[in-house]
Amino acid sequence: MFVIHDSAQHIMQTIDDYLQFDRQHIWHPYSSLNSQLPIYAVESAQGVNIRLRDGRELIDGMASWWSVIHGYKHPEIDQALKHQIDQVSHVMFGGLTHQPAIDLAAKLIAITHPSLQAVFFADSGSVAVEVALKMAIQYQAAIGQKQRQHFLSLRHAYHGDTFGAMSVCDPVNGMHSLFTQALSQQFFIEQPQKRFHEVCETEDFLAMQQMFEQHHKQIAGLIMEPIVQGAGGMWFYSADYLKQARELCDHYGVLLIFDEIATGFGRSGKLFAYEHANIAADILCLGKALTGGYMSLAATLCNQQVHQAIDNGEPGVFMHGPTFMANPLACAAANASIELLLKSAWQTNIQNIEQQLIQSLTPLSQLPSVADVRVLGAIAVVEMKQVINMQSIVPQFVQLGVWLRPFGKLIYIMPPYTIKQQELEKLTSAMTQVISNL
Ligand SMILES: *Cc1c(COP(=O)(O)O)cnc(C)c1O
Repeated sequence: MFVIHDSAQHIMQTIDDYLQFDRQHIWHPYSSLNSQLPIYAVESAQGVNIRLRDGRELIDGMASWWSVIHGYKHPEIDQALKHQIDQVSHVMFGGLTHQPAIDLAAKLIAITHPSLQAVFFADSGSVAVEVALKMAIQYQAAIGQKQRQHFLSLRHAYHGDTFGAMSVCDPVNGMHSLFTQALSQQFFIEQPQKRFHEVCETEDFLAMQQMFEQHHKQIAGLIMEPIVQGAGGMWFYSADYLKQARELCDHYGVLLIFDEIATGFGRSGKLFAYEHANIAADILCLGKALTGGYMSLAATLCNQQVHQAIDNGEPGVFMHGPTFMANPLACAAANASIELLLKSAWQTNIQNIEQQLIQSLTPLSQLPSVADVRVLGAIAVVEMKQVINMQSIVPQFVQLGVWLRPFGKLIYIMPPYTIKQQELEKLTSAMTQVISNL
């Protein structure tokens, strides 16, 4: 042990060595070891600034993948965690409970649709999706529909990286086509074509209607990211589509599952994106911004119809229970984050961010290299005509003092809601400069 420890210490003396060790031994998201893609070591972070080990400061345009909505090192969340560490950092949730979990469940029930009354705490977004899929199958079995074990999903959907979640991600464009044979076979329809402010016509629902007509006896649930399809293409679609999905689900006895892991907690301009359509899901997945980006925690909520059927069905319990379920530290961070959000002027802040993003990025749509520019709430997407070369573009952004990490053809900004006008300006002008030179 000492030998390993000593040599590890020795290896990490300079930043370069330190990064070298990382490259050789540590996987990052969707990465390979010894990859040539740039990697940056973070020293600390505060507010919207990420400080690198080499002393450079970057303005964060990613909110660490939708999660850090109040900025880094927020004194109130820090304090809540310190307080909770002095009480209990973790305790099993089987047979035991605690105040942070009860407070958080009460908050989630209060701020989501009144029909959602039961909360399952999961470890990550992907697990929250697994839980949702299992709930739907258990519900259907409990009401005598055992053959309903499949799901309907949308092309360009992204629901996570575990096996159940992968099975409902876009089967072609998704990041999981390699696993096709190992995945449950699901049903897919085209993504909604009508944009956020557009009105849907009957033809927009035909694919869903036909799919349900033919296969509803096998379909336990329809899973969708309401209004904003995230990692599968950053596409904003019409609220009409959700309303119609609700009606069709009711008609065909299919549960409606909303995955708000990316959109939850204000990102689209409403506290939850389904509010744009004024409808409720039967099952709702939350994650990412739930703890203000402090810790991994997610939740799956369901209505009484779902939990009562599961409670009264066979085997009379819901079949899931992670070791770190409802971790008290994570729940304490989530409680502090939700309180902060609700007492802030989040709607105004997000509207201001939206207006600024529209004004500063819409002109980019004139460039020949740009296919589309779209903004909703605190999300701005510039879709290029060509796939972006990450190896060269990320260092350009870093050079300009901003942290942006495009994928595929998409360059996007989704900052912490606390970002100031000049900071956002720095992000949009870096984006404009880099895109204009592509
Ligand atoms: C990120 C994401 C997930 C997966 O969450 P993890 O915490 O990464 O497992 C699922 N669904 C959506 C919509 C997401 O954006």
